[in-house]
This record gives sequence, C-alpha cells and structure tokens, in this order.
Amino acid sequence: MRCRSCQQSAGLLRRLCADCQRVFALYDRERGELGLSQFLDRLIVDGVPRAKIEAALAIDLDGRGALQDKITADMANRVLADLGHAPRHNAADVKRMREQGGGLATTTRPSGDAAPPKGRT
Ligand SMILES: [Zn+2]
Repeated sequence: MRCRSCQQSAGLLRRLCADCQRVFALYDRERGELGLSQFLDRLIVDGVPRAKIEAALAIDLDGRGALQDKITADMANRVLADLGHAPRHNAADVKRMREQGGGLATTTRPSGDAAPPKGRT
C-alpha cells in the first residue's frame, strides 16, 4: 500500500511508511513539549528524510488538523497555561490564522496613515 502521508510505498497493509510513522509517533510522545523547529530538528537527527517530514506535517490524517497546526496550537496553549489561562487554541484556529495570515500581517501602510503635517508652508 501507499503511505497516506508521503505517497511512497508503505508495505503490505500499512497506512504509513516507517519514516512517517516515526513523525506521528514523535508527536504523540512529545506533544506540547516541542516547538515546530525542535520537532523538525529531532526528526532530522533521527534520519527521517526532510521531504517526508514536510509531507507528514502538512497532511490532515484524522480530520482534526495538520500536524504543523496541532503543534502550533499545542505551543500556544502551553504559553497560555504558563500564564494561567485555559487552553483555547486548536489546529483549526491555527489553520484559519495561517490562511488569513497574509492579509493580517502586512507591511504596507494603510492609506491615510502618517500623512505629512498639514498647514506648513
Ligand atoms: Zn510516508
């Protein structure tokens, strides 16, 4: 069968190849403990090919969000918890923010902002 994450051969009756399985296993084991870059570093050190890591991060296997969004949500919740707030982020929120990201975080100034001072001649 083909791996549902990276589409390479996964072996007989397997949903995921061994490499992608390691990506998801690491997430299950370290959930909330690793940020996205630490997560990547751990897998690269473990010898998981980068293309497979990226495929596994981007795919939404269980319909509850892509791994990359789950990790970001976990870290946001962790920060909130450290500040004494209840967790309130989930992968769907992160996905929405990521997809809207370009419009919200713009570097162009809105028109009318910081117009030159008036009345000076
Ligand atoms: Zn795979």
